[in-house]
Amino acid sequence: MSRTTRVPRSRHALRALLGAVALLAAACGREGSPPGKGPATDRLPVYQVAKDFSLPGSPTWTRAKKRGHLVVGAKEDQPYLGEKDPASGAYSGFDIEIARMMSASLGFDPKTIRFRTIASANRETALQNGQIDYYVGTYTINDNRKKLVGFAGPYYMAGQSLLVRKDEKDIHGPQDLDGKRVCSAAGSTPYQRIRADYPKAIPVAYDTYSVCVDNLLTYQVDAVTTDDAILIGYAAKAPDELKVVGKPFSKEPYGIGVPRGDNALRFALDDALEAREKNGDWKKAYEATLGLSGVPAPHPPAIDRYQAS
Ligand code: GLU
Repeated sequence: MSRTTRVPRSRHALRALLGAVALLAAACGREGSPPGKGPATDRLPVYQVAKDFSLPGSPTWTRAKKRGHLVVGAKEDQPYLGEKDPASGAYSGFDIEIARMMSASLGFDPKTIRFRTIASANRETALQNGQIDYYVGTYTINDNRKKLVGFAGPYYMAGQSLLVRKDEKDIHGPQDLDGKRVCSAAGSTPYQRIRADYPKAIPVAYDTYSVCVDNLLTYQVDAVTTDDAILIGYAAKAPDELKVVGKPFSKEPYGIGVPRGDNALRFALDDALEAREKNGDWKKAYEATLGLSGVPAPHPPAIDRYQAS
């Protein structure tokens, strides 16, 4: 996998652009103006922390209990899903809310979570070597990954899509990618799918999607491909420069990654997700985060309590 570590000179283009968008939003932050950067914090649910919760059958939970807090893997550059405020270090977004509601259900005050940014290509290793207790970050459940980690959920259904520049005329869907430079994150399912199913496209991999978007804005690639939920966030933050085109061309069920073999934790998270979907927390969390990009709350997909082989 080439080009995963080189940082291009254009790297600051997106940050500068998004910074300008945020400033503009802040300047217009009066009643009736569109929401600024980040989630609607005043509308975020407060999650009831479970009292006297105990999960002695889970080595991960037991270790976290001794430590006194959870360590959760996440993304930091995906608008409305997982974003880290560079000034305060605070994480926000729909995935972050899922992580926080799960923490409350496991008996840990969400305020005590230590988030760690883990790129797509490093998720399995992070879970395998105990660097994190669980992972919430646009993580597609699939059979290959199930051999390496466990998954609770799914808690959201995304689909692979394409992000292009607003002035792009030729690309309307994956059928138009022949000879085009298509950027995605190393180790992601969209990157694998482009290589396997669209062999005439020229795949380009970086560690993160925000570097891909930088490269798109500076005409170094022609498209960025990953889940619609992620791309819609980038497009919503730079609507004059970027657009999402075509229909989603895959199914990406998002799961919470746990260490493989810790079925007690996996099933406890399945129960917790189900309860939070039932009591309205899931929908409130969605509406205060991912829903801000303009897509109304869908029905969450059915939880899959699969039997690990
Ligand atoms: N959902 C896809 C995956 O898990 C793409 C998003 C990501 O890289 O996190 O690979």
